[in-house]
Amino acid sequence: MTTFKDLGLKEEILKAITDLGYDSPMPVQAEVIPYVLNQSEDLIALAQTGTGKTAAFGLPLLHLIDVNQHKIQSLILAPTRELCIQISNDLKNYSSLQKGLKVVAVYGGESIITQLRQVDVQPQILVATPGRLLDLLHRKKIFLENVRFVVLDEADEMLNMGFQEDIESILTTVPKDHRTLLFSATMPKGIAKIAQKYMHASQEITIGTRNAGANNVEHIYYVVQAANRYPALKRIADINPDIYGIVFCRTRQETKDVAEKLMKDGYNADALHGDLSQAQRDSVMSKFRLRSIQILVATDVAARGLDVNDLSHIINYNLPDDVEIYTHRSGRTGRVNKKGVSISIIHTKERNRIRRIEEIIGKTFRQDPVPSGLDICKKQLFHLIDRMENVQINSEDIEQFLPHVFAKLSYLDKDDIIRHFVSLEFNRFLDYYKNAPDLNIIDKRDSRSGREENTSKSKKGQRIRLKINYGLNDNASPKKVLSIINKITQDKSIGVNGIEVTPKFTFFDIYADQVDLVLYSFANNPEFEVNIAKGSKKYDDYPSQKRSGRSSRSGGNGSSRNEGRSKRKPKW
Ligand code: AMP
Repeated sequence: MTTFKDLGLKEEILKAITDLGYDSPMPVQAEVIPYVLNQSEDLIALAQTGTGKTAAFGLPLLHLIDVNQHKIQSLILAPTRELCIQISNDLKNYSSLQKGLKVVAVYGGESIITQLRQVDVQPQILVATPGRLLDLLHRKKIFLENVRFVVLDEADEMLNMGFQEDIESILTTVPKDHRTLLFSATMPKGIAKIAQKYMHASQEITIGTRNAGANNVEHIYYVVQAANRYPALKRIADINPDIYGIVFCRTRQETKDVAEKLMKDGYNADALHGDLSQAQRDSVMSKFRLRSIQILVATDVAARGLDVNDLSHIINYNLPDDVEIYTHRSGRTGRVNKKGVSISIIHTKERNRIRRIEEIIGKTFRQDPVPSGLDICKKQLFHLIDRMENVQINSEDIEQFLPHVFAKLSYLDKDDIIRHFVSLEFNRFLDYYKNAPDLNIIDKRDSRSGREENTSKSKKGQRIRLKINYGLNDNASPKKVLSIINKITQDKSIGVNGIEVTPKFTFFDIYADQVDLVLYSFANNPEFEVNIAKGSKKYDDYPSQKRSGRSSRSGGNGSSRNEGRSKRKPKW
């Protein structure tokens, strides 16, 4: 096996990285380090974050720096403040034994005066975001005429963030004979253009597959009605009690809404979005790094540069429009040889988008049924028991209290104690999920959901009268009621007849074996409430909590959790 020593790095660097616990080079390092050290050409490396790319370009640059020349010799451009800080910290660690070597980072969102002072130390390596660097160049505070290496890190992200022009201007200010090392997770057209225009005879190294998600990432999707996205997210979080992940949302508002709901429902969650000040962003990120936040809800832009390596899950609350964004999101899990899961919550019409992502990234996605209340209770219970079994017992400290505790519980036998303990921790959870609806969409086209089909046989049998809070006052008509039922249940095979529109409500009959499906489908719809009509033959046979399509549960997981919302009057 190749060692760092075989790659030809200096002794001080070898010692520093050994101290950091780097035993052997990661694949991107084994390829890039000798190439940068021994060749004179440019490089395009397709590698995801987390593959060890910072050391791949950082170590040979440190090796090649002339520490006695106090001029910027290597320029590293990165898309975000956070990534700049991370790269400069890594380089400082790798060069801790190289006397006189200085690394400085400059980035937006920080006082320019402070950064000007830092630049005064005359570093040999400058790490910068493109915008701030241009600013400093215009102020004539930074000179790049001794630059021999330019690294474009996360080049695709820099283009996504609109830095193309800035990068091009910067590249015109560095000496023509510099070498460019370009790192990118994906290879969009813009990168190819930059490469064509500014790079010469470059070698392309691909770690993993071009434009592909990391290999150790499982891609899973859940199909629910759009209105059930949040309840589905909660169930995903509940079935994964140790989740440590990011939920990606489309907009700042959605990010805030989802994070607020999660916090209100008792999860360790918070939001990261563009409306936060830099200090707030730093605080959220640092809490997330320290794991006092378990679920971070973020927009793609805000999550850029967030350096967290061991996420268990990323969740696409919505599918991104762009496959590259999906690749970036899912690349945040499954890093450094760890397993990761990339989850997407979709509605039926988005299946073809999943197929398209599958084709482009060359990975197969698995549809999993949304976990049932029972699945979640089992999982949570065993998680609780595992924690109880593995808890660290601090004998010395608790010993003094135990005689009283033993005396107080002496009338209970072991089984009773276990019952009490489990109930104490678990009752609210059980209550919450006791009558939780099935969030899966019964879909005849897709047998992967593992659910039974709703066949026409079900049309035989007894009919039940239901009522919906939608009547003449809301301009209801039988046709509109039918279309609402079809839309909410996503099932056109529901046999509806006997529609009677009254001022406030509409009554209709459906077959007995479709009642649950209709009630469950409406349970999480914010606009309509469907109940079994009083006087219906079956009314008294139904358990009271099942008679209504309104969800009125609460409690669970140590908090008040409520999947249902009070229904608004329909707008249409
Ligand atoms: P990066 O892709 O540069 O963000 O690196 C991902 C993580 O891998 C960082 O936490 C590095 O400290 C770590 N790392 C990089 N190279 C090695 C190595 N050869 N052995 C062990 N860990 C490494």
